[in-house]
Amino acid sequence: MSATGPRPNLSVLRDDVRAIDAYAVPSAAGLLKLDAMENPFPLPPGLMQQVGNRLGRQPLNRYPPADPKGFKERLASAMGVPDGMRLMLGNGSDELIHLVIQACARPDAVVLSPAPSFVMYEMSARFNRCAFVGVPLKPDFTLDALALLAAIEEHRPAVIFLSHPNNPTGNLFDRSVVEQVIRVAPGLVVVDEAYLPFAQDTWMPQIARWPNLLVLRTLSKLGLAGIRLGYLVGHPDWIAQFDKVRPPYNVNVLTLATADLMLENLAILDAQAATLRAERTRLAGALAESPGVTPFPSSANFILFRVEKPDSVFAALKERGILIRNVAGMHPLLAGCLRVTVGTPSENQTFIRALRAVIGIPQ
Ligand code: PMP
Repeated sequence: MSATGPRPNLSVLRDDVRAIDAYAVPSAAGLLKLDAMENPFPLPPGLMQQVGNRLGRQPLNRYPPADPKGFKERLASAMGVPDGMRLMLGNGSDELIHLVIQACARPDAVVLSPAPSFVMYEMSARFNRCAFVGVPLKPDFTLDALALLAAIEEHRPAVIFLSHPNNPTGNLFDRSVVEQVIRVAPGLVVVDEAYLPFAQDTWMPQIARWPNLLVLRTLSKLGLAGIRLGYLVGHPDWIAQFDKVRPPYNVNVLTLATADLMLENLAILDAQAATLRAERTRLAGALAESPGVTPFPSSANFILFRVEKPDSVFAALKERGILIRNVAGMHPLLAGCLRVTVGTPSENQTFIRALRAVIGIPQ
């Protein structure tokens, strides 16, 4: 519906805000959705019933409590948070990325991450008027240690984000290089473990050793993307400061109640993640066997692969009802690249069949 009446005068808005496009969430109506790294498996019906019952008992007239009956402690113990460290909850880890940068956004602050990586690091930096430095990965998407250390020395970043494994490339970064980064960083290093359930490689135990290290996690990829719950773990002194810029009541009672119930049922989500790890191996094998397709190794629940004509392959897959993500234009190192989320066995089969048909490989 188009707006009626006089148009507003938008000149009070920031020029940089007016100049950009909003983060695009493409419509997936009627499509097989393999674009957003979601867990494709729903919860078992009995558990969904329990969720419904629990949600039906929440006091919707009240603001969420500061620490809902020890939920943060239960989350910390379920997720292996070292003793003495604190965690802060966010409306998805997206919000926590924003809050960390906001709290550090002194006039000269620089935010740094390898590139290509998760777009929100750069977007949040810009929204908070921080300079952003993206240090190119090597062509095989490993960290360029020399370039990274030189950039840290030159720009003295307030915050460094390391997506481990990295989105959109899928690989884990070399732990010895990450440790060097933590050692020389003049400010914070946030290791973003959004894809932990598929990588099973964590920096969590190290936060007690390195006071400038924070670990960022989310329940989204584990199977709860719809409830929007992320958590940030670090030294209590950091968390106390970030808490000051957190909007009060940023995590709603329905999210808290669902997450609390799911902490008692993590085995179900862990089993789903195990299935997806096995499917990832199968899908990577099928991609590698497809002439003209070059998949990259993945420790996440998605696979990056290169084809000759990414735009037409992406469009032709969509034509056949399959939505993946075209990242070819995101960064020069991603030329030719598409990213597919690992789905259920039958979804992956459907995707591979369609991809082979599109590229003209006999079935
Ligand atoms: N970090 C990384 C590396 C991601 O890929 C994503 C989502 N794509 C997020 C954080 C944000 O996740 P959420 O806001 O759902 O917790």
